[in-house]
Amino acid sequence: MEKTIRIAIDGPVGAGKSTVARAVAQKLSIVYVDTGAMYRAVALYAKQSGISWQNEREVVGLLDKINLKLGQPEGDQRDGRTLTVLLNGEDVSWEIRKPDMGEGASIVSQYKLVREKLVDLQRKLAKGKSVIMEGRDIGTRVLPEAELKIYMDASVVERAKRKVIQMEERGNKVTYKEAKTDVETRDQREKNRKIDPLRPAEDSFRLDTSHLSVEQVVDRIVEKVRQIT
Ligand code: C5P
Repeated sequence: MEKTIRIAIDGPVGAGKSTVARAVAQKLSIVYVDTGAMYRAVALYAKQSGISWQNEREVVGLLDKINLKLGQPEGDQRDGRTLTVLLNGEDVSWEIRKPDMGEGASIVSQYKLVREKLVDLQRKLAKGKSVIMEGRDIGTRVLPEAELKIYMDASVVERAKRKVIQMEERGNKVTYKEAKTDVETRDQREKNRKIDPLRPAEDSFRLDTSHLSVEQVVDRIVEKVRQIT
């Protein structure tokens, strides 16, 4: 692709953002950035430091000690992971995918200074490149000038089912009931938080993926990209 294009993908947990964004990135040979992984890494660091996720002051106090690096898996790292995440040099790519890290990330991502640090890093990662970035506030906050904004959603039932399968694939067992509670709790928190709540950007293209396959969603996005490049 000659023209630089930034694609913002937002939506609630389990809408299928990561799978779709990775596939689109591969098809278009552009960089994929998973911003949720960064909030998960902050939550993990707080846990490792013995700090409660609920304690904003102490979580924020850790920020200066956090050095995050994200990259495509290379060599030995190609063990089924979708992304390599280094937290102060330690490979935490699998650790951040454990079920409680989603909850931890959802809590620490409510804090203003946590968001400021990560939004800054996300903008740096996107600078001057063609990227597809996924998260909750990409179209509204991180890249409001993105050429294409997609808001993906699906029913709670469908999203909870997908969570169960995804966790199983990673060797973490959760029941449907646990997954549904997690989806509902995170939706509630993310849509109602004061800073950068989850909501579609006004100029976003909305996609309900409840009854669509991954391929169908990928094709629709690639088609949109072709229309604007
Ligand atoms: O997408 P993922 O489940 O990995 O994200 C973990 C948590 O990080 C989300 O539940 C959400 O609260 C938070 N997040 C956010 N803003 C983003 C990406 C993720 O607040 N851009």
